[in-house]
Amino acid sequence: MDNVLNIPALIILDVKENDIDYHFTVETVAKPSFCPRCGGTNIVGYGRDVQLFMDTPMHGKRVGLHVKRRRLSCNDCNSTFFEPLNDMDDKHRATRRLIGYIENRALYEAFTKIAGEVGVHEWTVRSIFKDYMNRKQEAYHPATPRFLGIDEAHLFHKYRCVLADVKERTIIDLLPNRNASTVAEYLRKHATEPDQDRLYGYVAALS
Ligand SMILES: [Zn+2]
Repeated sequence: MDNVLNIPALIILDVKENDIDYHFTVETVAKPSFCPRCGGTNIVGYGRDVQLFMDTPMHGKRVGLHVKRRRLSCNDCNSTFFEPLNDMDDKHRATRRLIGYIENRALYEAFTKIAGEVGVHEWTVRSIFKDYMNRKQEAYHPATPRFLGIDEAHLFHKYRCVLADVKERTIIDLLPNRNASTVAEYLRKHATEPDQDRLYGYVAALS
């Protein structure tokens, strides 16, 4: 039965199901061997709390993992803490694989639909997607093209400015419109220091 979840760190103690949900009661295989705060090994059990983490749907049903999570206390630094759960995201009370599942689907499906299917609140989906976008944004470092192509595209009954890397044949950005002031502002904002002077004449001509 332990293989059903495919999370080796967890033991399944009980499973219940109805038409729309699976409820697994689980606990970790082993208790942690050191304190996450001081690294000390003088730690003792301090009871358990049951915490619910949602997981990816299985056989078309939502999956809830009720984790009987150990509370521990460290005799070296006198702190108390919950055992770490490496497969779980504590912030969103979901398994990491559910986070990945939501991130992928939120790109092209309604948040409310996803929320209903996996059994979390719409706000949780929103929050997961926001975190995902922030991570993407931080990792995004566009290279300055050797030749910048400036063109227009007629999209959704509106002309928009398209900026492209001519040599690499890739789209760099899409501006909300093709007004000279919009384009000039964009170039001004994105030009690096040495380019500022060279761009100045060009931007002045546009404005
Ligand atoms: Zn400690």
